[in-house]
Amino acid sequence: METHLNKMQAIQMVDLKTQYQQIKPEVEAALAQCFEKGDFINGAYVQSLQQNLSRYLDVRHSIGCANGTDALQIAMMALGLKAGDEVIVPTFTYVATAEVIGLLGLTPVMVDVDLETFNLRPQDVEQAITDKTRAIVPVHLFGQCCDMSAIMEIARKNRLYVIEDNAQAIGAVYTHNGEKTYAGTIGHIGCTSFYPSKNLGAYGDGGAMFTNDDTLAGKLKMVANHGQNRRYYHDIIGVNSRLDNLQAAFLDIKLKYLDEYIQRRQSAAAYYDEHLAAVEEVICPKRAAFSTHVFHQYTLRVPAAKRDKLQQFLQTKQIPSMIYYPLPLYEQAAFKDIVRKGAESFANTDELCATVISLPMHSELSVEQLAYICESIQEFFAR
Ligand SMILES: *Cc1c(COP(=O)(O)O)cnc(C)c1O
Repeated sequence: METHLNKMQAIQMVDLKTQYQQIKPEVEAALAQCFEKGDFINGAYVQSLQQNLSRYLDVRHSIGCANGTDALQIAMMALGLKAGDEVIVPTFTYVATAEVIGLLGLTPVMVDVDLETFNLRPQDVEQAITDKTRAIVPVHLFGQCCDMSAIMEIARKNRLYVIEDNAQAIGAVYTHNGEKTYAGTIGHIGCTSFYPSKNLGAYGDGGAMFTNDDTLAGKLKMVANHGQNRRYYHDIIGVNSRLDNLQAAFLDIKLKYLDEYIQRRQSAAAYYDEHLAAVEEVICPKRAAFSTHVFHQYTLRVPAAKRDKLQQFLQTKQIPSMIYYPLPLYEQAAFKDIVRKGAESFANTDELCATVISLPMHSELSVEQLAYICESIQEFFAR
């Protein structure tokens, strides 16, 4: 095994360098173009990327912004959510989803998630609704859609807004009544992040918002641009959140390869599935019938007593792994005073925090690396 490792490329959680090498000439040309034209703010690439994203996702409006966290905040501001309004979120997610709710003085109402898909369960959402509830934020965690048909129906019945946190699932396809829709275009507003390690990642920060509603699109643009439609005439308090033209240029290149990147992630996931199926104590990620999975993360569940030992064992084999997420949001100090628990128990989230482990997942994993990772996991559980 040691000699095997020596000639194999070091395994990384995310390998942006190898991916870059394949598009290097295009990236360098775009970079030169931006510098030669002095085109840095609201430039041609921002316009081009927005159009190409709208075409790819089949959505009317794509609006760039500075990062995924801003996208969520701008969405909530554009919808006119006000202090005291309640917003339902899963308690098993990245902090950004709930952080912006707190920042705006809204109340995060946290609910549990499904043990197998890691996503919101519609019945939990329904139970958490009060007369203060204004919005639901489904997070398509690790690259697979929530049960959006049920969530949209609950929202319609209760007159709630739906803001999709699609930072981890761009390119995932949701099927409802035989019709296919892209993740992030189903709710009133979809938000995404172009953080470098995301499935469509920039070489720096970036984000975007999506909507099919023309009025909402206007509001999103206005909030993101200091509350103005006309320069120096400010109708509302907004923020300054722009997608950098350089980052848009890089993203426009990578968008062309997104489907290929997704396919490579799916192949790596299929390899893991096949070679870990026989390991009794390992539960591989479930695929929901209504959504494709774009595998932002490939996340196993293992017995809680062995999880950290597995991570240490993999470390000695030079295999990185990550725990997404070790502490539920409802237990985070930052939310102590503002959270409303939308459920009596968070048993599934508690269990996930103790049992999940995410394996290396990106578009550049070789079969040799995958084999080595799977053999190492098999070895750990055979001891
Ligand atoms: C990455 C991420 C965000 C935030 O995106 P940034 O661009 O880092 O601000 C929000 N929600 C989820 C689920 C994420 O994974």
